[in-house]
Amino acid sequence: MKLDIQDIISAVGGKCIQEGLIKQPIEVITTDSRSQVTNGLFVPLKGDRFDGHEFIKSVYEKGVIATLTMEDKVIDPRLWTIKVEDTRQALLDLGHYYRNQFTVPVVGITGSVGKTSTKEMVAAVLSGKWHVHKTDGNFNNEIGLPLTLFKMDASHEAAVIEMGMNHFDEIHRLSLAAAPEVAVITNVGTSHIENLGSREGILKAKLEILDGLMPGGLLVLNGDNDLLSTVGELPFNKVTYGLNTSNDYYAEAIANEGEYTTAIVTTPQYKCNIRIKALGEHMVYNTLAAIAVAQYLGLSKAEIQKGLESYAPAKMRMHLETYDNQITVIDDTYNASPDSMEAALKVLRDYDTKGRKIAVLGDMFEMGEFAPELHKKVGAFAAEIGIDRVYAVGTLAEYIFKGAKEQEGAPTFYYPTKEAFIEVMQRELQAEDTVLFKASRGMHFEEMLEAVRKVK
Ligand code: ATP
Ligand code: MG
Repeated sequence: MKLDIQDIISAVGGKCIQEGLIKQPIEVITTDSRSQVTNGLFVPLKGDRFDGHEFIKSVYEKGVIATLTMEDKVIDPRLWTIKVEDTRQALLDLGHYYRNQFTVPVVGITGSVGKTSTKEMVAAVLSGKWHVHKTDGNFNNEIGLPLTLFKMDASHEAAVIEMGMNHFDEIHRLSLAAAPEVAVITNVGTSHIENLGSREGILKAKLEILDGLMPGGLLVLNGDNDLLSTVGELPFNKVTYGLNTSNDYYAEAIANEGEYTTAIVTTPQYKCNIRIKALGEHMVYNTLAAIAVAQYLGLSKAEIQKGLESYAPAKMRMHLETYDNQITVIDDTYNASPDSMEAALKVLRDYDTKGRKIAVLGDMFEMGEFAPELHKKVGAFAAEIGIDRVYAVGTLAEYIFKGAKEQEGAPTFYYPTKEAFIEVMQRELQAEDTVLFKASRGMHFEEMLEAVRKVK
């Protein structure tokens, strides 16, 4: 990275209130005052607990030569000091400016659920041809996204960028920064409904991704989603994917083979068989999205197959393992929302085993006033789907239990804490069981897995 200070000033629409000592191009943009850099630009962010402006005084020693600021005063006259309205927006503007140094295709991915999984799948498929840059982990917000863009370099031939949100206008800003050539919306569910008012509100917020989509770009939509299927004509190219044969890209004959899922995929160009190292129908959706993106970007059938073969699931995400005691765990403890709960329950139902199928489901956070209703819905779904047993563990999980009880179906039990359940598990679980663990991140359900290993 070598960025001219004057160009940076115009990229952020800022005003230089102090010329710095060192007249070199910027090589690193950092929001962390502790990191050692060479010719760095410091972007101070204001959070609930910290105000980055307090650290401006210490960054010159760390190799920083310029700083943004929202204040009028110059803290360190050795630093180029650039006044802006809002350093968060300036960070995004810098991300956009930096991204525009490259002409490689950028793929933006949003949706209520499945963003990270789809991002990983799209990146894997594109890697069948290219050296691909992608969002690290879940760095999908107004800070993570520009920091992700800054990690692009001349060796990258494509970038896959995750965009998350919980309020209106966020995807708008993220998409303007990333300026994708292809935008994927995985679905419109119920996550963050507390801020967005309704599912129509969520749809509107996701469609903000169009605001940054390049002219002539492609929108890739999950056409099976009730709301996304209502999206009409747009001034962009559009394709849909799903299991419905009315979609441009669809999959049939989905089957489980141990830790693999197979399906027959129909695309506008050809039909093909896929075999992915991942569990669940929802992963077939993510694969369809990836194939649609890859075809649009010109990958051949062979390159797409090669990319698909390179895919491997991340930890705590639908990770299948059989322990020495012959209990198989589906570890999906990374996070949970009503949509992903249903997706995971379907995986458990469809898993090819003669043993019992058991779901251990915990609290889902950020549901606001909708929490009781949404937990009950998950409970009812779990009870009726055709598995053998449901354990609801946690505080909100009591509603999962209630929802299951209102539904005729699998026997359901309730435990308010993980500790209480761990004891029960020692008695109740047995060899040949397949057990799904899933709850919101804050529940730390992965802590129960050690106890499963110890079941005799
Ligand atoms: P976050 O908002 O935390 O970034 P995300 O949108 O990135 O979430 P993932 O982390 O990919 O979502 O997946 C969350 C959960 O949803 C996981 O349990 C995963 O197995 C499941 N999942 C993945 N893809 C889909 C999909 N297309 N539809 C429904 N559930 C999915
Ligand atoms: Mg994510």
